[in-house]
Amino acid sequence: DRERKLELVKKHINSYPDFPKEGILFRDIFSVFNDQTASEVLQELIADHVKSIEKSVDAVIGLESRGFLFGPQIANTLSVPFIPIRKKGKLPGELVRIEYSLEYGKDVIELQKDSLCGKSSVLIVDDLLATGGTMKAACDLIKSCGVDVAECFVIMELSGLGGKSKIPAPFHSLICYD
Ligand code: AMP
Repeated sequence: DRERKLELVKKHINSYPDFPKEGILFRDIFSVFNDQTASEVLQELIADHVKSIEKSVDAVIGLESRGFLFGPQIANTLSVPFIPIRKKGKLPGELVRIEYSLEYGKDVIELQKDSLCGKSSVLIVDDLLATGGTMKAACDLIKSCGVDVAECFVIMELSGLGGKSKIPAPFHSLICYD
């Protein structure tokens, strides 16, 4: 049943060669939301997984921007708050930030300073893990605030890039592309 559901979702993920630049095979999670059944089945798969996490989770962190499509829903499923991590310059208030390396150059992600107050363990969510650079930076940022990462969860993983081995926390993906 779970395998059948995963196949249905996978069938609705459109792939675009050479987008947004040459050599990238872009996996478009939005195309799943274009089919009501696939969209509902994906929500079920996500809910089943997050309810099975054994470690305690007292907040869900979503990574800009497609982590925001899943984070609030997962937070509601677990009855905990949702907290965004965003690219530099998007969040108001007092922030903590971390710089990380990209293929070319550097990037910065930020988190509102007070958002982790009283939290001891979080779940981080994004749509896709590629090199793992973004997810690793998010883990490092959260750990630098003295908070544990119970799990990093993505819908899709590009396993050929080996990103998983960089992640300093338990990791889970629903769909794995070679
Ligand atoms: P990375 O830091 O290399 O793991 O890249 C992960 C981030 O980039 C995620 O937020 C993804 O949304 C996005 N991303 C990277 N590669 C792809 C791809 N092939 N298809 C869709 N999104 C991607």
